Amino acid sequence: MLTIAIHGGAGTLPRAEMTPSQEAAYRAGLGAALDAGFEVLERGGSSVDAVTAAVRILEDDPLFNAGRGAVLTHEGTVELDASVMEGRNLAAGAIAGVSHVRHPVELARAVMEHSPHVLLIGAGAEEFAHARGLETVPNDWFKTEVRKAQLRRVLVGDTRPANELSALGTVGAVARDGAGNLAAATSTGGMTGKRYGRVGDSPIIGAGTYADNRCCAVSATGHGEYFIRTAVAHDIYARMAYGGATLQAAADAVVMDRLAKMGGEGGIIAVGARGEVVMSFNSEGMFRGSRTSEGRREVAIYRDH
Ligand code: ASP
Repeated sequence: MLTIAIHGGAGTLPRAEMTPSQEAAYRAGLGAALDAGFEVLERGGSSVDAVTAAVRILEDDPLFNAGRGAVLTHEGTVELDASVMEGRNLAAGAIAGVSHVRHPVELARAVMEHSPHVLLIGAGAEEFAHARGLETVPNDWFKTEVRKAQLRRVLVGDTRPANELSALGTVGAVARDGAGNLAAATSTGGMTGKRYGRVGDSPIIGAGTYADNRCCAVSATGHGEYFIRTAVAHDIYARMAYGGATLQAAADAVVMDRLAKMGGEGGIIAVGARGEVVMSFNSEGMFRGSRTSEGRREVAIYRDH
């Protein structure tokens, strides 16, 4: 079965505050990324091609917290993190703290495919992007008025719910291709008002992203400090590999129990070895979608739809 699932972050606007036109825009953005990734699979592309294609589109969509439209640091700059992992050979690549690379997921993939390393940061990662000929843009290109306003509110100590202000809105994708290979990718601007140099879970292999063909591919979104400490994506894999849990049981144990008890808000999307999709979140909503070659296509934001 061909399968792709995507997320556009956990922690949505409270339902009562989401206007119909905002909701339609989010759904359209998710649908476009979902279909682009699925078409890659249909044309015989690999799962890593599919997750990269879907995440690229979400990085360019200013509604989501990745690439253009990413949230701002305390200093008002944009610092981006991303990662990608392949389940067939456990190849992985990640970057953190880049400020000029238009598509951070492409850079993470370049690290995976064209360097002996897994994680590059800051100036070294930017230099590698340049050497690989990846597109770069001025830091201001990433900034939107919405994100500037969110930062202003955070800086004056606005006490509105954390998820509205920090607008968790990381993006990610997981897929299973026709050869049965799994892949996962995650891309983010982190959290509004983060200290510069702060790195969350998204570029940490095993925390925000993990893939192993035998069990699952996972992409996470949520409060990164909690997700790193609970090694969320690898914990889900490990519960399956060593404990024999189903993907659903493993995901729920980590997200609904372990993370929730610590106060770690967020969720995950995952695809299993047979192409089954699991989405588990302990926040009010999680922007998400999934599509399979068995005819399922779903885009959802809140718990019920
Ligand atoms: N996990 C991301 C981080 O902590 C934030 C998010 O998912 O929105 O950097």
